[in-house]
Amino acid sequence: MNLSHAPCQLSIDLNALRENYRLIDRETGNARVSAVVKYNAYGLGIEAVVRTLWDEGCKTFLTAQLDEALQVRSVLADAEVIALNGLMSGEEQVYLENNLLPTLNDPGQLQRWADFCRAYDRTLPAALHFDTGMSRLGFAPAEYRELAEKTDRLNGIDCRYLFSHLACAEQADHPMNIAQRDEFARVIRAFPAMTHALAASSGVFLGPEWHFGMVRTGLALYGGNPNLKMTNPMRQVVKLKGKILQIREIDAPETVGYGALYTAPGKQKIATIGAGYADGYPRRLSDQAVVMYQGQALPVVGRVSMDLTTVDVTDVPGVVAGDMLDLIGPGQDINDLAVQADTIPYEILTSLGARYPRVYEGE
Ligand SMILES: *Cc1c(COP(=O)(O)O)cnc(C)c1O
Repeated sequence: MNLSHAPCQLSIDLNALRENYRLIDRETGNARVSAVVKYNAYGLGIEAVVRTLWDEGCKTFLTAQLDEALQVRSVLADAEVIALNGLMSGEEQVYLENNLLPTLNDPGQLQRWADFCRAYDRTLPAALHFDTGMSRLGFAPAEYRELAEKTDRLNGIDCRYLFSHLACAEQADHPMNIAQRDEFARVIRAFPAMTHALAASSGVFLGPEWHFGMVRTGLALYGGNPNLKMTNPMRQVVKLKGKILQIREIDAPETVGYGALYTAPGKQKIATIGAGYADGYPRRLSDQAVVMYQGQALPVVGRVSMDLTTVDVTDVPGVVAGDMLDLIGPGQDINDLAVQADTIPYEILTSLGARYPRVYEGE
């Protein structure tokens, strides 16, 4: 499909991705760095992302869903690929045939994998996940304490990893961080042979005591700020540009867009850009955000609609239809946009649209 007429363009800077991986690798010393590439690598395109990180030395990739793990496997024949969502009944064969690791999230899943290994007379790899504060996925505390007493239940399984996940890591001073780390450190004593992994992106920047044997990073690789109280150490990976489709010269007071949310007070030049909330430019930015044009910040006026956004370009001489404006880019990155849209950079990335091309720089 030729999408070259799309009025938006998403560019993905693979050199920035490489640098972010290297920065995390330096930050974590002897701990290994695995890459979380769920949801199409947070919307950036799973194939380019996993190839780039593999070449950079990353050997372990994590997804949420089994189908996503299969996508990684189709790109990287030799990578270690783990699906986090858990081993659901009937999926065992798919894991085996594609050499994928299931995450065993409860005693039933563990039992099922052990039975499957026995039936095939094979010692198959897996990861264990203990829930130390999310009440979401993973063995509940009573369940993992019991398993710590009865580790023979792991017999016949090649249990490579022991995971838990931090609930509040982006707030460095939150007491949950130390509580979860201490609980994790206690419980892993019963499972010394596994690689232990607690930290995601934000956990990496809590310090070495959170790194254990491996970290699982997603957002920071893609330019998200892992700690809201510090200057973002990560390089920006994505840029979204939108094309001006038309410019309206307003003379007398007139309303702009749905709901007549904005009224141009008098003489004003309004540019309509071919990007809207369907393209991942949040509707919450209506009358809020700015877009950048050659380093100049231009206010979004009126409602962001599905395919269109209106911008005040009165102060920009010479701007014409066909010019590209930066919706996400220098001066306005995914973290800034998330604050303005009252959300988090994860949601900005995973909302990026599907109808414009992803152009990879630095391949
Ligand atoms: C999504 C996820 C990660 C990655 O989190 P980031 O904050 O994007 O680094 C790590 N571990 C688990 C269990 C996850 O679900």
